[in-house]
Amino acid sequence: MYADADAAVRAAGPRCEASGKCCRFTEYGHTLFISHFEAEILLESAPAYTQPVTRDGCPFQVSGLCTARDARPLGCRIYFCDPAYADRMVEITELAIARLKAIANEHDAGWNYSPLHHFLNAAVRERPAVSAPDSMTLPDARHALPLVPPPTI
Ligand code: SF4
Repeated sequence: MYADADAAVRAAGPRCEASGKCCRFTEYGHTLFISHFEAEILLESAPAYTQPVTRDGCPFQVSGLCTARDARPLGCRIYFCDPAYADRMVEITELAIARLKAIANEHDAGWNYSPLHHFLNAAVRERPAVSAPDSMTLPDARHALPLVPPPTI
């Protein structure tokens, strides 16, 4: 899905001036919503981040650049501030979200579509209270979020 979205964006050819403003949400005046699927992928490989995360911006933007580029969510891949691309952006987004919802339905995986900081902070809140000898490595908090709800019986 990410490859398809990337290809569709490439074909549309939006202009990017690399201002980094789109990842500073409050300053730019928008919110990045992601699904629990995207959060899971992001949290698997994104670098460590400082908590709590606010709605103001993404902790993975460093010096104006994305440090989680390979795992960045759909909104990051599809959104560009180029006004000439606005209509195509909506089409690509709607198609991608529809595909994600279809996957969620097919696998009875629930659907959680929330602002980025909700997932990043939830991962912290769900950190397991594990005590271990000094020689043991504690589990990474970023992997502690139960992103896909268990099936109801
Ligand atoms: S994941 Fe990367 S592209 Fe997406 S908001 Fe964060 S810094 Fe920006």
